[in-house]
Amino acid sequence: MNMASDWFRFDEKIERAAQKARGSIAGSIARVEEIARFNQHKVLSAFIHNRVGEHCFTESTGYGYNDRGRETLEKVFAEVFHAQAALVRHSFTCGTHTLAVALNALLRPGDKMLCVTGTPYDTLLPVIGLKGNGMGSLIEYGVRYVQTDMDPSGNPDMAAIEQALDDTIRLVYIQRSSGYARRNSLSVDQIGQIARLVRLKCSAPVMVDNCYGEFVQKSEPLEAGADIIAGSLIKNPGGGIAKTGGYIAGRRDLVERCAYRMTAPGIGGEVGATLGHSREMFLGFFNAPHVTGEALKTAVFAAAFLEQLGYRARPRFDEERFDIVQSVEVGDPRLLQAFCRGIQQGSPVDSFAVPEAWDMPGYDSKVMMAAGAFTLGASIELSADAPLRPPYTVWLQGSLNYDSGSLGVMLGAQAMADSEVCHE
Ligand SMILES: *Cc1c(COP(=O)(O)O)cnc(C)c1O
Repeated sequence: MNMASDWFRFDEKIERAAQKARGSIAGSIARVEEIARFNQHKVLSAFIHNRVGEHCFTESTGYGYNDRGRETLEKVFAEVFHAQAALVRHSFTCGTHTLAVALNALLRPGDKMLCVTGTPYDTLLPVIGLKGNGMGSLIEYGVRYVQTDMDPSGNPDMAAIEQALDDTIRLVYIQRSSGYARRNSLSVDQIGQIARLVRLKCSAPVMVDNCYGEFVQKSEPLEAGADIIAGSLIKNPGGGIAKTGGYIAGRRDLVERCAYRMTAPGIGGEVGATLGHSREMFLGFFNAPHVTGEALKTAVFAAAFLEQLGYRARPRFDEERFDIVQSVEVGDPRLLQAFCRGIQQGSPVDSFAVPEAWDMPGYDSKVMMAAGAFTLGASIELSADAPLRPPYTVWLQGSLNYDSGSLGVMLGAQAMADSEVCHE
């Protein structure tokens, strides 16, 4: 079957690579679909158990007391993630905010936090106090921070973790996704191994930054022994429909601390006007397993297809995946920019925009970003990020829709081919 269409033009070399890639990924695609089906059944069953009804979609204003939509949505999240309790709020402005609320809720002056997955995601560094002016950070409040680095193979260093664990540790922090670092993402099994080790050595709760990991596997971190998880609704669990927000789920006492920190002690999660956001958050969570599957299929295709064209993909197309992030080493700044521009040109929104590398706060090199998304900054929609520094790696993630996402990746490759021709 020929991929060529009336609307997009591809070199024969690109068409052929896409066809070959499609041929080689059938097994990986089937595995993704099987996981999506399992998770879809899990989510549907939670909707049914918790009697989600039209009454859940009405908005509350003011204090938002007794908002049945909000309360039901939190029960649905709790059931799906095997949590005793959950907070799911549009008023969490992003993943970083949600994680910051949880960290500030769970740590007290003098407490020691141990991160066991190396340097955390960039935006968490000012939260902890490892970067920036320190204002309002955990360290400014007297929290002590220690970390163990990933081992040379990119996995948690279990021996170092065992050594770092003692009864002075008050919180153990795990980042499930690789984010944009050269390390592996963690499987739920690996998270379970760490949680068991922690239990042997101290009573600290285990918190997981679950961003990019939701619904990638059949089970979630709380099932493996983690105590509390948090994430963003403009990633996997928002299903591409939630416009903003975040969630925290886990042990009831810990979630209650987070609720007190989120609003005020004594008030906690009992307030919070939904302002008409509930329907979209329900609809997004309902779609999340499917949409996460579409993003994963796009990543699998990108890995196989770009490998056909001679680029190095991580993870490889047939490797088991633990988050939705796909990195591809392009090896050349010009190609990197061309690829991002091609992705942008293939976006349903802002296709006419031309991304430029810019000095993003917190980065030591210029960064290219391509995203033409219905929700600004939503990385569950197809998007590409690339710091302009060797080895010139592009990070791809998201896609609401495999047919459109794989086409976007092909347009990225076509743009690289075109840029090579015009420079030869
Ligand atoms: C996206 C992300 C965050 C932060 O989320 P924002 O919504 O961008 O603030 C934190 N950790 C990881 C692993 C992420 O992928």
